[in-house]
Amino acid sequence: MSKALFLDRDGTLILDKHYLADPAGVELIPDVAAALSRARSLGYKLFILTNQSGIGRGMYSLDDVHRCNERMDELLALPRPLFDGICIAPESSDQPSLYRKPSPRYILEMITLHGLDPTQCWMVGDRDTDIAAGLNAKINAAAVCTGKHDAATWAALAAPGVRVFPGLLEFVATLR
Ligand SMILES: [Mg+2]
Repeated sequence: MSKALFLDRDGTLILDKHYLADPAGVELIPDVAAALSRARSLGYKLFILTNQSGIGRGMYSLDDVHRCNERMDELLALPRPLFDGICIAPESSDQPSLYRKPSPRYILEMITLHGLDPTQCWMVGDRDTDIAAGLNAKINAAAVCTGKHDAATWAALAAPGVRVFPGLLEFVATLR
């Protein structure tokens, strides 16, 4: 069975610019390329699970998000395809949703589709909803401090057993 990382995008892989629609605004968080490279070399499949409520709010389009993802891929400059799947949840928080975190639906679908071992899968993100999506899917969850919350805030928020890391590289350094 395969192992996998489910990664939030904004605040975890790239700087959270809030309703980012312009590829020129994409900025990698430091050491993310090294982290993803190491995860791949350890045999982890990589998935992105990103809430993009700006689509549901009519602020930008799905194509804008695709262009930003393409720019992120360019900046990462790692062998492609780097990601085994990308799920963009377009709903705003007040709309009925299928895939919007904390929904576990995408993670559960990928576990089935790719034959993943849930005990060797992680959801990693900078917000409570990322952690909740992972726990709802009954996989592991890890928090990073490169976005919404600093370490002190996470200490107050994080669910028992959810470890907090300065950033993605420090998390990936614990994987085997
Ligand atoms: Mg985020």
